[in-house]
Amino acid sequence: MIDVLVIGGGPAGVVAALRAADSGAKTALVTRDEFGGMAANDGPVPVRTLAHAARLIREARQLGRYGIVVGDPVLDYQRLLERVREVVTDVRAHSTFRSQIDSVNVVVHENVGGAHFVDPHTVETATGLRLRADKIIICTGGGSRRLSVPGSELSATHSDAWSLTSVPPSMIVIGAGATGAQVASIFNAFGSKVQLFHTGTRILPTEDEDVSAAVAAAFRESGIAVRENFGCIESFEKTASGVRMWFSKDGKRESAEASLVVTAIGWIAETADLDLAKAGVETNKRGFIGVDEFLRTSAPHVFAAGDVTGRLMLVPQAIQDGFVAATNAVRGATMKFPEQAAPIGSFTDPEYAQVGLTETKARATHDIVTAIVCFDSTTGTIIDGRTNGFCKLIVDRQTRQILGCHVVGERAVEITQVAAVAMAGNMRVDELAQVPLSFPTYAGVLGRVGASASRRLNLKRNLAGQSYGE
Ligand SMILES: Cc1cc2nc3c(=O)[nH]c(=O)nc-3n(C[C@H](O)[C@H](O)[C@H](O)COP(=O)(O)OP(=O)(O)OC[C@H]3O[C@@H](n4cnc5c(N)ncnc54)[C@H](O)[C@@H]3O)c2cc1C
Repeated sequence: MIDVLVIGGGPAGVVAALRAADSGAKTALVTRDEFGGMAANDGPVPVRTLAHAARLIREARQLGRYGIVVGDPVLDYQRLLERVREVVTDVRAHSTFRSQIDSVNVVVHENVGGAHFVDPHTVETATGLRLRADKIIICTGGGSRRLSVPGSELSATHSDAWSLTSVPPSMIVIGAGATGAQVASIFNAFGSKVQLFHTGTRILPTEDEDVSAAVAAAFRESGIAVRENFGCIESFEKTASGVRMWFSKDGKRESAEASLVVTAIGWIAETADLDLAKAGVETNKRGFIGVDEFLRTSAPHVFAAGDVTGRLMLVPQAIQDGFVAATNAVRGATMKFPEQAAPIGSFTDPEYAQVGLTETKARATHDIVTAIVCFDSTTGTIIDGRTNGFCKLIVDRQTRQILGCHVVGERAVEITQVAAVAMAGNMRVDELAQVPLSFPTYAGVLGRVGASASRRLNLKRNLAGQSYGE
């Protein structure tokens, strides 16, 4: 009998297995496909590689401005896909804790097909492997939600988009959350004529409203047709050159056509094949596995971690989840998931990122001050010719604590990491303004915006010269 069996080899499962074995438990990990999960094979790693290619195209288009004469960049999509495969293999081999897992003697069963419960302590895989364990941690992640309208089988998901053999001449992307926005932005950069459809009133609905507006404007400027609040999809039909989508709003019927339709309308848990009832594990109303603060499921010996719990569906949170679940599986319920503001960002053009509360949410619960510094007034962005964007800080008026930071523009995701560290360290905004951040850098904008917020709080005399000199 194994002490701890982990199902799923993504970031949550890998870290759960590592932590369980490190804590002295005899541990096995079983995963349907390749080690590394969606994170390495089908999500952030391929996306970030394609986004990097889109960035290189952007950079190449700037060369003339800096006196470097070359021809227009031409994308060889086949070669790019080879590069994506190279990167995925490299990441899987070197950056997914694989060597650590092997060094602590976790028994890894990869590519064994879907596992399901046979009884509360026994799991069997599609290839017939049977494993019995005292404690089980489910880390099976999630998958794209599909539309259920006539002809929806004609639409693709982000996974299909990465495996195209050529760049489609035109593309409809449905859903403008993080995934849809990235697909739209990347293929727009590669030359597809992109239409981005979003049912809500604004794209990127979980971002600060200023961020949604700025990204939507930049997308439109770059040629993406952004259709917010477009109504309801009725059906899809095949055409000679692709797919036609029929949709309606207020009784008015319209259609749009493209060579490829990609849906990015949300995420569902990968639980359908697990036969959870045999282990007494219940799912919540959204279909994700319900967990308590110790990541225990409704079955006392079964834990769940990562996307399959439907909480914050990101790699760092999956990693934290795996650590917490394994700690509690081995040592008893002793560790809770840490409450922390988590930076979230996306590699679109322009990039956008956030940490903490949006302005609307902050206003609902705090008396706030906001400050914005635009990228056309910061030195690093002017040097690099990347003046589109801004950094916005939201601060509590009484405590001077930073409640949120929202960035649009070049290196937005990296800038937000620095803000997240300041927030995790409970830094007051005037303290942030006094850190002599390097000049001229992208993250340096945080000193400027911190100084600007501090001035609004009438804290001028406490500010160091550099940040004050906005
Ligand atoms: C397009 C895209 C871009 C993203 N970009 C980012 C980003 O930039 N930053 C970020 O932090 N996050 C990003 N994410 C989210 C991130 O990929 C997930 O949050 C993360 O992979 C979740 O890890 P996990 O371990 O919970 O699940 P996964 O990584 O999904 O791993 C689950 C594993 O379980 C296996 N499995 C499933 N069912 C079974 C079964 N029945 N039996 C055995 N094994 C099974 C799967 O094969 C897989 O290996 C992105 C996601 C997508 C789709």
